[in-house]
Amino acid sequence: MAKKTRTQVRPLIARPGAQYTCFGDGLCCTDIHGLGPLTKKELVQVRKRDSRGAGWDEDFEERMLRTAPDGGCHFLLPDLRCRIHAETGPEAKPDGCRRFPLGLVATPEGGRVTTHHRCPCRTMGARPDLDPEAALPSLVNRAGRPKADARVDKIRLERKAKRVPFEEWRAIEGRMLDALAAGTEPERVLDADPFPRLKGSSWEDQADEFVAATDGTSFGVAIATFGEMVRSLLDPEHRYRGPGRPWASAYDRAEAREGEDRPEDEVFADWIADEIWSLGFAEDSSFDVCRAELATRLAVARAVARHYRETWGIAPGRSAAEALTVVELVGDSEFWSELVERIRL
Ligand code: SF4
Repeated sequence: MAKKTRTQVRPLIARPGAQYTCFGDGLCCTDIHGLGPLTKKELVQVRKRDSRGAGWDEDFEERMLRTAPDGGCHFLLPDLRCRIHAETGPEAKPDGCRRFPLGLVATPEGGRVTTHHRCPCRTMGARPDLDPEAALPSLVNRAGRPKADARVDKIRLERKAKRVPFEEWRAIEGRMLDALAAGTEPERVLDADPFPRLKGSSWEDQADEFVAATDGTSFGVAIATFGEMVRSLLDPEHRYRGPGRPWASAYDRAEAREGEDRPEDEVFADWIADEIWSLGFAEDSSFDVCRAELATRLAVARAVARHYRETWGIAPGRSAAEALTVVELVGDSEFWSELVERIRL
């Protein structure tokens, strides 16, 4: 009988070069992150504290924290602190709040600490290296033990191929991460064409669907921006009519804090490295599909960043960081996972 590979959450491992510390820029407590879903128990706890603070959301069909008209969480104080955290401590917050922007993937080598990039504390200016042990309190369950978001012990490199052992994957991944760290353009490292063929649909139809999904939330702004930019990239005659940047104030705060801008290529390479490191594709998809979808989101992110630079005159690194807010939000949505299933290589 084949030996079963085991995954483990210890030791905790950070990707070399990943930098993050929470400066409290406040973006993670707005509708940009969906503010949920909550478990039944979390809903009861939150409502005990304040019955207006959470409830069933018909749009998401989930239990969610409620937002104020400006999109901020019901518990967000005027000074951008969390009321639950301030009154009781971090352990009283719902799991999603405690974890963001961090994640944990159990592998045969240990627990990979991952980071989302739609967070200025992750993407803007000089930050200390990500310390996995310092991240631990955000990643534990109620019993104080590290809780994995996913477990990965084998990788499917191509959609129709068998999965390969983790060791074999590590060699492939290691070469890509080294190239990114050495300054190779992320497009070259991915080595995949954007906008691959889609089964039963076209990119034009998908772009129209994205634009039609605008719903008055910050996520609606992100998906409309994405759809408009796809239209512009596919049709040079198309006049881009993307909406504004409701998350700009959080990036203003980060810019004022840091002062120093990062090169655009560095911001994008850092993101691609974390997308690979976090193995988000491994449970349901394959690495060839992952490379194609990442190449597509990277092309859109470059175009959005250029538009932000030229329209609002903001610095290149910050434009790239804000563009990542758009492409990561879309990438984490059901719209994108349904589209990725249609990719045919
Ligand atoms: S509950 Fe607190 S940490 Fe969670 S989104 Fe609301 S303000 Fe932010």
